[in-house]
Amino acid sequence: MSAKYTAPRGTKDILPSEMPFWHYVETTSRAIFDRYNYQEIRTPVFEHTELFERGIGDTTDIVEKEMYTFHDKGDRRLTLRPEGTAPIARAYVQHNLHGKQPISKLYYCGPMFRYERPQAGRYRQFHQIGIESLGSPLPICDAEVISLGVHLFDELGLSGLSVNINSVGCPVCRPVIEERLKQFIGMNLEHLCGDCNRRFDSRPLRILDCKNTTCKAYLTGLPDIRDSLCHECNDHFNYVVTYLDNLGIPFKINPQLVRGLDYYTRTTFEIVSDQLGAQNALCGGGRYDGLVTQLGGPATPSVGFAFGVERAVMILQELSDYHQSRLPLVYLAPIGFDQQSRCFRLADQLRRAGFRCELDPNKSELKGHLKFADRLDAEWVLIYGETEALAKSVVVKNMKNRTQETVKLDRVQGYLENDNISRPSHR
Ligand code: ATP
Ligand code: MG
Repeated sequence: MSAKYTAPRGTKDILPSEMPFWHYVETTSRAIFDRYNYQEIRTPVFEHTELFERGIGDTTDIVEKEMYTFHDKGDRRLTLRPEGTAPIARAYVQHNLHGKQPISKLYYCGPMFRYERPQAGRYRQFHQIGIESLGSPLPICDAEVISLGVHLFDELGLSGLSVNINSVGCPVCRPVIEERLKQFIGMNLEHLCGDCNRRFDSRPLRILDCKNTTCKAYLTGLPDIRDSLCHECNDHFNYVVTYLDNLGIPFKINPQLVRGLDYYTRTTFEIVSDQLGAQNALCGGGRYDGLVTQLGGPATPSVGFAFGVERAVMILQELSDYHQSRLPLVYLAPIGFDQQSRCFRLADQLRRAGFRCELDPNKSELKGHLKFADRLDAEWVLIYGETEALAKSVVVKNMKNRTQETVKLDRVQGYLENDNISRPSHR
């Protein structure tokens, strides 16, 4: 039977079978962020459209083509957030976080929305986990942010990743970089796509991020951006690279890496995977020294990254040695309708004591119960029929070693606790 209603194009349901991977990614991320002393921040899912137009830049793909923008009933122009950095910079200014501590280290986790062509690893609603370190211009912060990303993905067990890094300069040297680029590209402009042509004058660096293969072909032999960096940007880049070397983090300098958002200054980086196919970027980030000022805040040099949870989960699902660990399951098997209520009470007691319990009210025969308990991979089945009711006891069947024992109802909890301790953990 085909469903009458399906999730909108580009969105997906995350079903329980996939959820352990999500929890694993989220829990591990939180634990690693905590070790680097980051704290969580949650901002609204929608913001004033202008925030993104100003923050991300109005000639970027995101702002030009990908935003979910609407007018609410009060005629406000609102947009479902396409990314997390501009909202966090907005919250940082709004709540005066700069006045509270010299460096704010924040992380976030949640859905983002972009009207893109859906394909493997690309959705219209997707999830990002990211960090922002606001308040320091020092290259050691860039290196710490990158190393945190590498550490996190190591901890998650994601292999086949590589770090690409570049510098896109600052307001001092950006015009020089852009001028050189225009000189190089200018003669081939007619061969480039409409977007690249439109952006040639105002934002030529955007051309480096064009996904069009024809446009990409005209970039071979492009002069290295780093040759046009100002002295400060060059020093900054060299420090970042040295810190990464010090930590033994392998990386590749990719002179064409500019990223698709206007706010980046100096360091940009990407962590790509050889297991993701065409959508190979797992994580993107960089320094954004001007964003907070642009949103009306004080000068706040900052650096951060975001990674796509769907893409992390895709890689994990490919790895066969990932297993979820859940608490052992207690399956309660009332035999006959009359025994349900007592079992219901026992389940309540055990759940409050910390056990994971299942009670299927649709079954009342032992055979059906045992079959289902097997399917659920239950550790124990508690059989409670008329005989047990009269004796105020329950038969505890250990499903793993197939032994069973009759235990008084008021001792069941203690019995399971003991059995649990002696349970070999590798089962
Ligand atoms: P891409 O080059 O894949 O379009 P991007 O440069 O637009 O990525 P960022 O805006 O830097 O990506 O977002 C960081 C990460 O978020 C990406 O590396 C990716 O893992 C994830 N991501 C971005 N857009 C999508 C999407 N539409 N669907 C799923 N994940 C996404
Ligand atoms: Mg994109």
